[in-house]
Amino acid sequence: MTLEWQSWSGRQRHHALALETPNSEDEIISLLAKAENENRTVRTIGSAHSFVPFWTDDYLVSLDNYRGLISSNSATGEATFRAGTKLHELGEPLWDLGLSMENMGDIDRQSIAGAISTGTHGTGSAFQNIPSQVSRLRMVTASGDILTIDESSSPEYFQAARVSMGTLGLITEVTLRGIPAYYLHERNWLASVDECAEQRESLIASNRNWEFFWLPASDRCSMKSLNLTEETKSYKPSKWEEVGPSYHIIPSTREDKFNEMEFSVPAEAGWACFLEIRQMMKTDFPEVVWPVEYRTLKGDDMLISSASGRDTVTISVHQDASIDPSPLFDAAEAIFRAYQGRPHWGKVHHYEAAELSDSLTGFNRFCEIRQDLDPEGRFLNSFLSKIFGVR
Ligand SMILES: Cc1cc2nc3c(=O)[nH]c(=O)nc-3n(C[C@H](O)[C@H](O)[C@H](O)COP(=O)(O)OP(=O)(O)OC[C@H]3O[C@@H](n4cnc5c(N)ncnc54)[C@H](O)[C@@H]3O)c2cc1C
Repeated sequence: MTLEWQSWSGRQRHHALALETPNSEDEIISLLAKAENENRTVRTIGSAHSFVPFWTDDYLVSLDNYRGLISSNSATGEATFRAGTKLHELGEPLWDLGLSMENMGDIDRQSIAGAISTGTHGTGSAFQNIPSQVSRLRMVTASGDILTIDESSSPEYFQAARVSMGTLGLITEVTLRGIPAYYLHERNWLASVDECAEQRESLIASNRNWEFFWLPASDRCSMKSLNLTEETKSYKPSKWEEVGPSYHIIPSTREDKFNEMEFSVPAEAGWACFLEIRQMMKTDFPEVVWPVEYRTLKGDDMLISSASGRDTVTISVHQDASIDPSPLFDAAEAIFRAYQGRPHWGKVHHYEAAELSDSLTGFNRFCEIRQDLDPEGRFLNSFLSKIFGVR
């Protein structure tokens, strides 16, 4: 009897031997020992919001029973959470400590370990991705050892482990470095593509966070900006604006199910790449109504982060979950490749080891670290083996 299971969008459907929900690190260590004895693979699910086949038919692990704040340090602004904690469960405990996350993505339904493991990010040219807000990780490796990974004690593991797709070990604790709690003022407005072209550099520079969604049906851009405010209450100044604590204002809700492809391109190539995606969709896919999202992201130093070593524009293409996205995504991926695109690890892509090794300078070193920590491939599956060139 196997367990039937599917991801958020329904794109990934699996039969697993079991879905384990450990309550402690000891239970995680026992599970890994059992998997080793049976020579089975282990893959961890956060909130299953990724669109790619990260999973296994052997042991799936969910840390849904391993959530919540463990400790905090007011001197350093750090707070340590169990790794299964959902992003929407971080805001209030951090706020009570006088802290906020520096930035967040479009939604807050993911687990903190799952979000960092794929390099989840928001927008804002001064801000790096969510894993950049992590100052320490605790992880159980395939051999059952516990590693505490931070910048001073293990700098190379630290560069590798924050974005690692669950291939180095099972993360049990995540320490975030917060910034002083802040309120934001959100504004939304519509603009033509020409206006967006003209204004985008100044909008990027003058707003804390700015992004737009290109709406194919009307060929217009739905702009969104977020800025710090002195106000300290939650309210809606108008239909298009909202004020409130950062953790309420940054994330939105996404009720309709879709599949998504997103690539990071060098910041200076972002607009040209977007224009090609737009032209391709107008010419070849006029029926697609799902928006294209355009965001900015500051470069970082993580080995396989999509923003590793370069300031970035991220562009994502969506398709309704009930429609095969392959024709649209294949056409988009060809354009992204021409712009030195790097895939978002949680979203649809077809990259394999050879091209990743060309695109990411830290990729080969990451593969060595992965091989050292998990020589038997306990945390691999066929999709990840292709990515890391493991036969
Ligand atoms: C509606 C929607 C909106 C989104 N918005 C954004 C956005 O704004 N920005 C963005 O960058 N991305 C976005 N994404 C993508 C999403 O943030 C990533 O796919 C993220 O990884 C999903 O988190 P999760 O908790 O669901 O993890 P999962 O999808 O369940 O897992 C992701 C990876 O993390 C690993 N993992 C999970 N827990 C652990 C653990 N404890 N230890 C080791 N490895 C672990 C998994 O094995 C897997 O490899 C969005 C996705 C959806 C569906």
